[in-house]
Amino acid sequence: MAQLIDGKKISAEIKDELKEKVAALKAEGREITLAVIQVGNDKASTVYVGNKKKACEYIGVRSLAYELPEETTEEELLNLVKELNARKDVNGILVQLPLPAHIYEDRILLAIDPDKDVDGFHPVNVGRLWIGEEGFLSCTPAGVIQLLKRTGIEISGKNCVVIGRSNIVGKPMAALLLRENGTVTICHSRTKNLAEVTKQADILVVAIGKPNYITADYVKEGAVVIDVGIHRNADNKLTGDVDFESVSEKASYITPVPGGVGPMTIAMLMCNVVRSVGK
Ligand code: NAP
Repeated sequence: MAQLIDGKKISAEIKDELKEKVAALKAEGREITLAVIQVGNDKASTVYVGNKKKACEYIGVRSLAYELPEETTEEELLNLVKELNARKDVNGILVQLPLPAHIYEDRILLAIDPDKDVDGFHPVNVGRLWIGEEGFLSCTPAGVIQLLKRTGIEISGKNCVVIGRSNIVGKPMAALLLRENGTVTICHSRTKNLAEVTKQADILVVAIGKPNYITADYVKEGAVVIDVGIHRNADNKLTGDVDFESVSEKASYITPVPGGVGPMTIAMLMCNVVRSVGK
């Protein structure tokens, strides 16, 4: 039976470390401010934004909330981003996605100053990640690396297989595992004989976006399995991309859903927010 990787506990540890760091910065007279922009009233976005504000409060960071109406134009939003880019007292800028359909998301993300881009989505930060320069890391994949490291799982020299190649999870995940000296393979919907590839993995990261898709047949005995997926099933319960029941019989370590990767995303966002003060 696999050991559980406890994302709840690890994310709480990280937030407590950040709280101390922020207190030390405050003692030197340095305040940190995150601007959080939400356009429209998407319910899920309101919950995410609320959680981000709470995390800021917990670690001692000031958050400025911009709750803009659905009919906000792209130009108005761009002007706000420009204004926040210019403000010396604002360290980080976060635009909650998705944006309403009439606003071109990429144009907004490109407008954010890369040194205030705490989500790590700006192409400059993506490039920095791939060439090994300092920059803001994409939060969910950075959280996976912390889960592995803080559980004492060695990445260097290991066969790491990532299922999924999205810009927010799969690709940055592969870059980070490579940076930790893993031997990395990326799988996607055109991969042939997926199970043959995934069975080579010492560390298998699953971000396929399909509930309970990865069963024990895809997993090598003793592998470490990280489930990035989040879905709500018919009983309103959260479930991942991995079939926990069968895979936990075969893996050496596994992340549960909920309580695995999920809580790490906000903790890593807070790491980026604290890092933004030095930019
Ligand atoms: P996504 O954009 O839908 O990407 C899914 C990836 O899986 C794509 O690259 C796709 O390949 C690949 N794929 C789909 N079917 C496949 C198959 N049968 N065999 C092999 N590969 C296949 O999803 P995402 O945004 O990366 O998110 C992945 C999961 O993580 C979702 O469940 C999402 O809810 C969750 N998530 C969780 C967090 C968190 O904080 N825990 C954050 C973000 C996302 P193609 O590229 O060829 O289409």
